[in-house]
Amino acid sequence: MHLAQRVDYYKRPDVEAVIDILLAKTGRLDPIFDLEQGYRYPDVEKAIGKDSYGAVELLEELFDARILDSQIFDMEIRCPDCGSPNISTRYLCPVCGSFNIKKTFLMEHLDCGYMGPIVNYGDPLICPKCQQPLVEGNYRNAGSIYECADCKKQIDTPFVNHWCRAKEFKFSFENAVYQGKFTYFPTPETKEDIDRGIIFISPITLIFESLGMGRIENTKVMGASGVELTFDVGYEGNGHKYYVDILQGKELFGELDILKEYGKINDAKVEAYLLVAPGMDEKATSMARSYKMSVCDGSNPNEIGVKLSDALKGKGLVHTPVKDSSKKDEAKKNEEKAPEIKSKSRWKV
Ligand SMILES: [Zn+2]
Ligand SMILES: [Zn+2]
Ligand SMILES: [Zn+2]
Repeated sequence: MHLAQRVDYYKRPDVEAVIDILLAKTGRLDPIFDLEQGYRYPDVEKAIGKDSYGAVELLEELFDARILDSQIFDMEIRCPDCGSPNISTRYLCPVCGSFNIKKTFLMEHLDCGYMGPIVNYGDPLICPKCQQPLVEGNYRNAGSIYECADCKKQIDTPFVNHWCRAKEFKFSFENAVYQGKFTYFPTPETKEDIDRGIIFISPITLIFESLGMGRIENTKVMGASGVELTFDVGYEGNGHKYYVDILQGKELFGELDILKEYGKINDAKVEAYLLVAPGMDEKATSMARSYKMSVCDGSNPNEIGVKLSDALKGKGLVHTPVKDSSKKDEAKKNEEKAPEIKSKSRWKV
């Protein structure tokens, strides 16, 4: 997948949340086993506000989009009758079918060659065949066997069978629902993007919120030309309304990219900030300047964040504590809820 397409994914809050979790967890996301729901990804569920199916759906989508790669973590056995993962595995006696089988250790008496279960030797240890006491060096441990507690037959290879604890349903491995469960981690391309620094939406929102503005839902604007234009994100408050577009790539952006954005902002007749990483080339820089565009460029998100914050303060916006107390409580609650997903990708502004 091309970088431009990956950048569109990074603008989604659920994708930002997954990458945050990966960064907080040394880059790997293992499933955690739960007797009710089977393997699941609780951190992802919490961060995106969805159930275990929703979390898996998102991870699979990101795998298909090559944002994430995966590796088999374990196979999950589920009941073919009720779907429960709360399954017991039983070894059965191939003779009588009993699951009541015992592991027994075998001992060989080297002097006479007798081999049998350790219990046959008694205590103290005496060979049941030649009646000689066992002494250090004339016997050896010969491994273990299973013995059926019901029919007393020795078992070399037991049958494997399962039992559903939820509905007490017996089933064989042929009928079992047996599915791979995966560990997820960033693809090399995503890893590169992370190392370069991804411009996520929520740190931008934090900057606007600290200046008394709030995010607006609708970022579509009808242009003077009659074309509907969509910005990445928008904010309103304190008598201001701003839209924000994000350009991020590997190389410096050129005149054409800036011209395209200029055309869009000019047609929309709105105030808009353009965040550009890793920056613009010389021609693009002087073009943006001559068109008086509000561009915050930099090699990494931190630098861009500082520029954006300074630019907004230059517009007369000052740091305002959040007035709406319910919002504040909510922010505080979120902080308490998920302190472990504080990411190092966060901007420090
Ligand atoms: Zn069942
Ligand atoms: Zn048996
Ligand atoms: Zn013996």
